[in-house]
Amino acid sequence: MIRENLIKVQNNVKEACEKAGRRNTEVTLIAVSKTKPVSMLMEAYNCGCREFGENKVQELVDKYEVMPKDIKWHMIGHLQRNKVKYIVDKVALIHSVDSLKLAEEISKEASKKQVQVSVLIEVNVAGEDTKFGVKPEETEALIRKIAVLEGIHIEGLMTIAPYVDVPEENRQYFATLKQLAVDINRKNIDNVNMNVLSMGMTGDYMVAIEEGASYVRVGTGIFGERQYPV
Ligand SMILES: *Cc1c(COP(=O)(O)O)cnc(C)c1O
Repeated sequence: MIRENLIKVQNNVKEACEKAGRRNTEVTLIAVSKTKPVSMLMEAYNCGCREFGENKVQELVDKYEVMPKDIKWHMIGHLQRNKVKYIVDKVALIHSVDSLKLAEEISKEASKKQVQVSVLIEVNVAGEDTKFGVKPEETEALIRKIAVLEGIHIEGLMTIAPYVDVPEENRQYFATLKQLAVDINRKNIDNVNMNVLSMGMTGDYMVAIEEGASYVRVGTGIFGERQYPV
């Protein structure tokens, strides 16, 4: 089932790239494996997946320990400062930096462990109360403060769009994130790249690609519905 799902998603990615006149290599698919057992991750791995996304530190670390070492792990969920130390030397990219305090903690732990950590700034483009992320109008100011910290490098922006039945409804938010990245990029801030846009999930990744996504985070579309313990 995972193989079929992956082929379908990969074909959709290709199709969206073609429609947008983008190269397929500009978009990386992250298999969001949260709540799923290692056996299913291994199935995806054996189909060629090397980028996995998790939203909980403990789960990411547990899977990191047992999965092959050529995997790139993406921390896509809200990150608590006291847990930063467990993942700074394990993740390829932290997508969810939305405060100076969190960035300072990442910087501190990165220096301790002698690693460089790549991060994205999470922006709450739709302004939903339930979502983490910095406000669009506060993003540049936050980036300027984080840019001077050691051991941490801003590579771009991330957003979690609202849950919608009609993917088109989220196009505006993806376009806004892209524009924000373009605007900030023009400022040429030292130690800041705006090359990476992490946006789009199972319900809307094709629209996100059309609007410039470089990472799409797809869980359900690859692994099926998640069951949360009640
Ligand atoms: C769970 C999650 C996803 C994947 O969601 P699906 O709708 O299952 O594709 C993507 N991004 C984040 C931040 C998530 O927490």
